[in-house]
Amino acid sequence: MSNLADATAARLGGLSYLNPNAPEPWASFVEQIERVRPYLGELERWIETLKHPKRTLIVDVPIERDDGTVAHYEGYRVQHSLSRGPGKGGIRFHPDVTLNEVMALAGWMTIKNAAVGLPFGGAKGGIRVDPASVSKGELQRITRRFTSEIGIVIGPDRDIPAPDVGTNAMTMAVMMDTFSMNRGGTATGVVTGKPIALGGSLGRQEATGRGVYITAREAGRHLGLPIEGARVAVQGFGNVGGIGARLFHEAGARVIAIADHSATLVNKAGIDIPAALAHVAAHGGLAGFVGAAPLDIEEFWRLSCDFLVPAALEGQITAERAAGIRARVVVEGANGPTTPAADDILRERGVLVVPDVLANAGGVTVSYFEWVQDFSSFFWTEDEINARLERIMVGAFNAIWQVAQEKGVSLRTAAFIIACHRVLEARAERGLYP
Ligand code: GLU
Repeated sequence: MSNLADATAARLGGLSYLNPNAPEPWASFVEQIERVRPYLGELERWIETLKHPKRTLIVDVPIERDDGTVAHYEGYRVQHSLSRGPGKGGIRFHPDVTLNEVMALAGWMTIKNAAVGLPFGGAKGGIRVDPASVSKGELQRITRRFTSEIGIVIGPDRDIPAPDVGTNAMTMAVMMDTFSMNRGGTATGVVTGKPIALGGSLGRQEATGRGVYITAREAGRHLGLPIEGARVAVQGFGNVGGIGARLFHEAGARVIAIADHSATLVNKAGIDIPAALAHVAAHGGLAGFVGAAPLDIEEFWRLSCDFLVPAALEGQITAERAAGIRARVVVEGANGPTTPAADDILRERGVLVVPDVLANAGGVTVSYFEWVQDFSSFFWTEDEINARLERIMVGAFNAIWQVAQEKGVSLRTAAFIIACHRVLEARAERGLYP
């Protein structure tokens, strides 16, 4: 092999089944794992485990379209680690989803679940489909066939999917029903993020945005930067960015810029977030909202602000963009929005990054509550859920902050140190079979 081929293979964790021409974002995940190596002590012996997803399932999802033709979609479920418990992580419907991406997302779930102390491994799934390009009936057939295909690896005590980009509570209702039909009995605990009437949890829909807000507030507390009066810019205005923006707004922050797939908007006096949310509910996107002026997306990244919240897709904060960012804190609502090279630049420039595996862990934390409630068939009040969420998020934030201070590392590396210790300790104690 050439040196270049060797280097690419290393960046992919030595896995031959990935496309070497598209090494991101799995390569970012592998690099983040490598950064923890010096802090693992005797557990270093097990580090390769984290670069080898335990189980990778690729499925064909054929459906009959409304016009009578047959269409095929590619689907995945990756169980990155099952060392600490069942797999857990969302299902993404997006036309550009790749196996590489789903593997990275599954890896980040392993780290996230361990970093906040949830008794899960990490998993993720996806289908290469644009949900807007198919009818409601077609989407339901895609979801049902996909669920049947991955039915051989999921289950309430094996691997529990949830919503992610392009999926929602209705998707989970269809997945729960399909799995239950195949099994011959209702299994509410097979997915989380369900509608309330089907064993869903109060507070689940808001939970990711709420966690983003809580971790931003805690970061601000450590920096002497109160939320009240802070300037906030949010990329992504869906379940994470939209709800996060609303909570910042309600706490007295000034949300000066918002962006989604249809528009990027700025209003330095502060955007009326409830009005923007109402516009999105009515029109499907921010385009046409008159309470703010259009802005070039590159200008968005250079806005002077206190909190910058990337809450869309991976790889948004590149090294080039990082060099121009003028925020004091980046709070990662999305998974993997910052590349490792950009991470270094932000650190050198004194921008604090609250990493995805902490900042957006609120969603899976309330998923955990939902799963527990389903098992016990005893449901909690929204106040109880929000109080428990607050406790877990603040506890995880403080533990990660302390490790970052002690070891002089970023919050991301600190979160990975805590998480990798937990995962690899479980790995080592369970031992190899046979
Ligand atoms: N998709 C969400 C995430 O990336 C939630 C996963 C879950 O609730 O299992 O964390």
